[in-house]
Amino acid sequence: MKNVVLLTVDCLRADHMSCYGYKRETTPFIDRLAKKSLFFKNAFSNGPNTRHSVPSFLSSTYPLLFLQEINGGKFHIGRRSVAEILKNNGYATAAVHSNPYISKFYGYDRGFDYFNDFLLGQVEDEIKESRLKKIFREVVKGLKAITLHKLPHEDGKRINYEGLRWLENVDEPFFLWLHYMDVHMPYVPPNQFLEEIGVKKYSHIKKVWMGKKIDDIKMRDKIKDEEIMDYINLYDGCVRYTDNLLKEIVSKIEKRYPDTIFIITADHGEEFREHGDLSHLEKLYDELLHIPLLFYGKGIDDRIIEKPVSLISLVPTILHLLGINDNRWLQGKNVFESEEFIIAEAWREKPITAYRDLEWKFIISGSERELYNITEDGQEKFNLYDSKDGKVKEKISLFEKIIRRHITNLDKERNARNTYLQKEKVRRFVRKMRS
Ligand SMILES: [Zn+2]
Repeated sequence: MKNVVLLTVDCLRADHMSCYGYKRETTPFIDRLAKKSLFFKNAFSNGPNTRHSVPSFLSSTYPLLFLQEINGGKFHIGRRSVAEILKNNGYATAAVHSNPYISKFYGYDRGFDYFNDFLLGQVEDEIKESRLKKIFREVVKGLKAITLHKLPHEDGKRINYEGLRWLENVDEPFFLWLHYMDVHMPYVPPNQFLEEIGVKKYSHIKKVWMGKKIDDIKMRDKIKDEEIMDYINLYDGCVRYTDNLLKEIVSKIEKRYPDTIFIITADHGEEFREHGDLSHLEKLYDELLHIPLLFYGKGIDDRIIEKPVSLISLVPTILHLLGINDNRWLQGKNVFESEEFIIAEAWREKPITAYRDLEWKFIISGSERELYNITEDGQEKFNLYDSKDGKVKEKISLFEKIIRRHITNLDKERNARNTYLQKEKVRRFVRKMRS
């Protein structure tokens, strides 16, 4: 059995990577790897931020199937994650990352023999803490960032170190998931990586201050438009830094375990005010959805795939490549059998659903509708929904139908899942009474 190494980068938008045509050479390692990989030019996340996307891709479940989870509930109870499926198939499983949204506290350690989120009760404490304590923690965080260069997330070097350390005592086959936060704000790349992409250096204190401004929701909105380029410079430096981290981990694991499939992707992208905001809020434009995706390893084709695919296909594709036939729990199909369009979703007081194919993007949000012709308007600026063109109208009614069908299917699955959970509850009760 082949090993699987899943490398996901938080907030990495594809169009800021040189292998996706970016003007700066931000990803020299991935560029080279992409040429030897099954490389997806049009890959999309199914949601615009961690809470929507990660539970979705780990369990091949559309983000809006479980609304309470999006709003801070436990990880998809009643569905299986890739770690559980692989563990059942004889895999040693491990995950290393430092994103609180996908921590052990929320049940993301399910199926992993080893799960290191570096948080050790921190999420519980922060949920309970008083306002005063919160302010104190923010001050300490700021001081640590300035004096000790300590970021709110673990450095990718540490992620690599812990991943490699776990591998020292493990038998094949294994499944290792490493999730990197180095591209996530605050963007504080070492200056070396800014120099490597031909960007001016920034002092550490300037980087920390810019990080504070973008991290803080109130300060974020006051960032001036002319400052955005500085943020993009730092973001690109972070991308180059992460490329280097991926180079280290892939080359070390590949050398020792040649029979390994590597997957590189991101949970979502990042917005730089293309549609009015910074960060990754609940919107479904391409800066947030278009992400990298490649599969690399022995026996995997080196091909460029144009067809649009989404991360709902990630687990089905892993299982397909491993020859594991366990698709009961999955909503997606593998990339070779998936549809020629993708669906993405977000919850912002109400559901937002997007259809995307190679030419069109159609977004439904309550009574609002948006239609963009991606080939002519890649920036998604000109809403064609009110167009009088008969062909456009035909497209709209087709996309609307596809989205409606998708929503109906989700409703059905949601009901089935609730029934399943109710039955489980009764079964547990009966077992308890008998014992
Ligand atoms: Zn994320």
